Amino acid sequence: MAVSPRPRSVESSRRLFERARKLIPGGVNSPVRAFKAVGGEPIFILRGRGAHLFDADGNDYIDYVGSWGPLILGHAHGRVVKAIAETAGSGVSFGAPTPIEIELASIVIEAFPSIAKVRMVNSGTEATMSALRLARAATGRDRTLKMEGCYHGHVDALLVKAGSGVLTLGIPGCPGVPVSVARDTLTAPYNDLDALRKVLDQHGAGIAAVILEPVAGNMGCVPPKEGYLAGARDLAKRHGVLLIFDEVMTGFRVAFGGAQERYGVAPDLTTLGKIIGGGLPVGAYGGREDLMARVAPEGDVYQAGTLSGNPLAMRAGIETLKAMKEPGAYERLETLSATLEAGLLEAARSKGVTATINRVGSMMTLFFTEGPVIDYASAARSDTRRYATFFQSMLERGVYLPPAQFEAFFVSMAHSESDVQTTIDAARESFASLRSA
Ligand code: PMP
Repeated sequence: MAVSPRPRSVESSRRLFERARKLIPGGVNSPVRAFKAVGGEPIFILRGRGAHLFDADGNDYIDYVGSWGPLILGHAHGRVVKAIAETAGSGVSFGAPTPIEIELASIVIEAFPSIAKVRMVNSGTEATMSALRLARAATGRDRTLKMEGCYHGHVDALLVKAGSGVLTLGIPGCPGVPVSVARDTLTAPYNDLDALRKVLDQHGAGIAAVILEPVAGNMGCVPPKEGYLAGARDLAKRHGVLLIFDEVMTGFRVAFGGAQERYGVAPDLTTLGKIIGGGLPVGAYGGREDLMARVAPEGDVYQAGTLSGNPLAMRAGIETLKAMKEPGAYERLETLSATLEAGLLEAARSKGVTATINRVGSMMTLFFTEGPVIDYASAARSDTRRYATFFQSMLERGVYLPPAQFEAFFVSMAHSESDVQTTIDAARESFASLRSA
C-alpha cells in the first residue's frame, strides 16, 4: 500500500525548539536528539502509546527509537505504568534499602549466570565508569582497552574513538578529558582478534580491562564475528585483564540473558541499563563474586548514589522483565524484526538502492553501503547523506527512525505486523525518492 508524505505541520515543534535553544545547550539534553546528523529540527514529543509517538503538532509516528532501547514493551505499557503509579503512591525515594531492590537484583542474577552480585546505579554511564574503577582496583592497573566505534557513555576514559553521538558529530577527542586519562585508553578495531592480541601482547601488563559491546549498537548494529567474543575472553584471561561486556543496550534485548547468553561467552564484569529500568533512569554493574566483594561497603572501592536503587525505576524494570520472561516474547520480536529486515532489503533492492542491514534480534541498522559492515571503518563507508534523506522521507511518512546513521532501530513488543508493513511500504517510496534525489 502506498504511504505518501503527509501534510504535516511542525510549527509547534519549531517554536518549542527555538525556546529550548535559549535555555538548554543546543535545545536538547542529549546531543543526538537535536537531528544535527539528519538536518532539520527535532520534533517535540507530547506522548507515546505502544509503538507510536505523538508530537506537539498532533502528528503521529511509528517509533523505532524506543527511547534508545529501554522501551522493549513500547510506550506507556499498562502494566508498567500501573506499577509505577502504585509505587509512587508509597513514596518515590528513601535513600534506604527497600525489598524491591532485592527483587530486581535476583531477576538480573538469575538471567546472567556470570553475575554473582549486582549494584544498581542511575545510568549506563555510571555503570561503565564504576565497572572500570572496580577493574582498576582489582588488577592494580590503570589502563583500559576499548574498541573503535563502541560507545560506553560519556565516561572520560571511554570517549576515545567512541561511537554514537561522538561518531555522528565527528568529535575527534573530547575537550575536557584530561590528556593523562585519554593516554591510558588504548583502542583496537572491533571484530579483529589479531589487533586485540597485538595490543595485549604489547601493553597487556598495564591494562585493567577490555571493555566492549558484545553486539555493537553505537556504530550502528554490528554483530560479533563468529569466535570474536570467545577469542577476546581467552586473550583477556591470558593477560590477566578483566573482560567487561557492556550490555547496557544488549541486556534483555538480544536475549533475556543478553549477548552473553546468545553467544555463550561469560565476561568477568557486565554493565546493564536501559531495559532493566523500563524507561526510568537506571544502570547496573555486576560480575564475579570476588570482584563484586571489592565494592563498598563490602570492600574498599567506593561507589555510591543518592537515588540508586530508586523504587520507581526498580518497579518499572521488574514489570518490564517479567513481561519479557513470558513464553514467546523473544520469538515474537524475532519474527517481527526478521519481517522488517527482509521487507526493507527487498524494498531497497526493488528501487535499485545499495543497502546492507545488520540485525541481531530486535536491534538492526540499515547502512547505505554494499557492506559487509563489520567494524567502525566499514560502518563509516555508509553514505550518511543518503541516510539523512531517507530519515526525513520516512519521517514525512510517519516513521520515526533514529536521527543518525550510527545507531540501531529497535523493534518492540508493541509493534504490530501492520506497523511493520506500513514501515516497509514507506521505505519503498523513500528509497524511490532517494534514487531520484
Ligand atoms: N553503553 C552502551 C552500550 C550504550 O548504548 C549506552 C547508551 N546508549 C551507554 C553505555 C550509556 O548509557 P547512558 O546513556 O544511560 O549513560
